[in-house]
Amino acid sequence: MTTEPEQQIGVGTPDAFQRLWTPHRMAYIQGENKPTGPGADDGCPFCSIPEKSDEDGLIIARGERVYAVLNLYPYNGGHLMVVPFRHIADYTELDDAETLELAEFTKRAMAALRAASGAHGFNIGMNQGSVAGAGIAAHLHQHIVPRWGGDTNFLPVIGHTKVLPQLLADTRKMLADVWPTV
Ligand SMILES: [Zn+2]
Repeated sequence: MTTEPEQQIGVGTPDAFQRLWTPHRMAYIQGENKPTGPGADDGCPFCSIPEKSDEDGLIIARGERVYAVLNLYPYNGGHLMVVPFRHIADYTELDDAETLELAEFTKRAMAALRAASGAHGFNIGMNQGSVAGAGIAAHLHQHIVPRWGGDTNFLPVIGHTKVLPQLLADTRKMLADVWPTV
């Protein structure tokens, strides 16, 4: 999808992201961005993403201690994550300033998702440890998944599919454009 900004799905249009979830517009790409090991030097994607441009890294916003980034393997359209820059695994390892900014970015993510897509609700949380379902357990990340009434109809599909990179680029820009600033 390579539309001009004025032709994009309208900011503030309810369920805007759902239009990105038409199955025939999806492609499934396996095996990308998986770390080769548990350490920061073992290809941890959450350590390498901030070294990229916002566009290439799908970064929506950068803070002093955390950043917000789109999930490449979203549970739902607009699924983003708030991630500390520091390579730490456990929530208890966050210092006070990181804890505060992670919470603040979670609020801003909710506001941006509401503004961009009219999200009706959210699933927010973290999986701590691979036993709890963390895909990249070595680097803490908070999931923020927007929800709309009826979106469960899409879950069986998106559970094993991946959006085209261009659609993620459009979603990133939509959210970055409405990300609240202090
Ligand atoms: Zn890391």
